[in-house]
Amino acid sequence: MKYFSLNNREHRSNFENAVIRGLAPDKGLYFPEEIVKLPESFFKKLPELSKTEIGFQVIKDYVGGEIPDNELENIISKTLDFDFPVVDVKKGIGSLELFHGPTLAFKDVGARFMAGSLGYFIKKGNIGNVTVLVATSGDTGGAVANGFLGVDGIDVVILYPKGKVSEIQEKQLTTLGQNITALEVDGAFDECQAMVKQAFLDEDISAKRKLTSANSINLARWLPQMFYYFLAYKQLEEKDEKLVFSVPSGNFGNICAGMLAREMGLPIDQFVASNNANDTVTSYLETEIYKPKPSVQTISNAMDVGDPSNFVRILQLFDNEYHSLKKNLTAYSFDDEETKKAIKEVFEETGYVMDPHGAVGYLGLQEFLKDKNGYYGTFLETAHPVKFLETVEEVIGKKVAIPDSIARIVDKEKKSLQISNYEDLKGYLMS
Ligand SMILES: *Cc1c(COP(=O)(O)O)cnc(C)c1O
Repeated sequence: MKYFSLNNREHRSNFENAVIRGLAPDKGLYFPEEIVKLPESFFKKLPELSKTEIGFQVIKDYVGGEIPDNELENIISKTLDFDFPVVDVKKGIGSLELFHGPTLAFKDVGARFMAGSLGYFIKKGNIGNVTVLVATSGDTGGAVANGFLGVDGIDVVILYPKGKVSEIQEKQLTTLGQNITALEVDGAFDECQAMVKQAFLDEDISAKRKLTSANSINLARWLPQMFYYFLAYKQLEEKDEKLVFSVPSGNFGNICAGMLAREMGLPIDQFVASNNANDTVTSYLETEIYKPKPSVQTISNAMDVGDPSNFVRILQLFDNEYHSLKKNLTAYSFDDEETKKAIKEVFEETGYVMDPHGAVGYLGLQEFLKDKNGYYGTFLETAHPVKFLETVEEVIGKKVAIPDSIARIVDKEKKSLQISNYEDLKGYLMS
């Protein structure tokens, strides 16, 4: 499989190079030259296939033989080594729980697959050691740290804003040790991100270290997110109704993977992009004008994105035709008050506890289903409610049970290096 840059179709790459680079040299996102169509026979067999077999069939043509089959199966089996249940919440509505991985958010899938792929390319031996440099506002850092922990040839350096991530999120970044270093930045997330961008352009640093990023623009983080739409379908295929998925969206990587899965043949009728107050895409679908905005802070903070980087991939899936996109994608935005109200109401009505991101997904689904018949709706529950403990406990007026994996890290000692400016970061990377 070849990939082209969305800035220039002439710039092409194989899978390996695209994974190592992240972005094309012209800063465009990579996009597959061909959308793989899965045969009828695959969907017939699907109910009997294991998670690994499903993942393998879905992604093998995108990897294009650049990772040998047995290695690829191995990577997929480690990536999907936890459950992806669709839980009935109420009549006609289910929650696809993506939080049963080690850091309790869906990003574990992409981060583990990327770590496995990059680890393989390094082991193969023609790129040398690599430093993965990422800025995080919360969930990405933990998933990346966990995914890359102990992978030979990779050092991970994570920048996070001091005092602006939750206690659990901070512990997930700072207690692992080994090849993971956490840099605690005296500043906001935007400053962390600006420093990371500057480091990528700094020739002194690139002479010394090979840097790569691990955010959702990377193919190896984006593509494996298709897996759980197929795993959900396996649980839903006996339903007589049409299927609709509502995806709480920030950078639009997750929903874009779902829409790619549909182009490959997965029978999903509609996608709903559920947004918080960051409503750039909601406005675009209403007005046909794409106008990025500065992000606003909400209680579903992993979706506080004003200019979603993967949206260009969604446009490409529909050949940049607004009307055809509009037929396939619906978007809604909700504010924090509506989100809290949904958490409370669903809890009181059903006993099911949603986190703020899942709650936005639930709201989008409910809005879509209003006045419609013949649908079964699934919203993606992208994080465990315990990751947003304060908000959730305050809203439902009850304690949320803490999973063992979290209870264990809360007692571990935090290890981070304090930095306050770019010179500090450069000093660290050059040392
Ligand atoms: C990252 C994240 C999102 C947003 O996913 P995108 O792929 O960026 O749209 C939603 N919910 C949670 C909990 C996240 O961590």
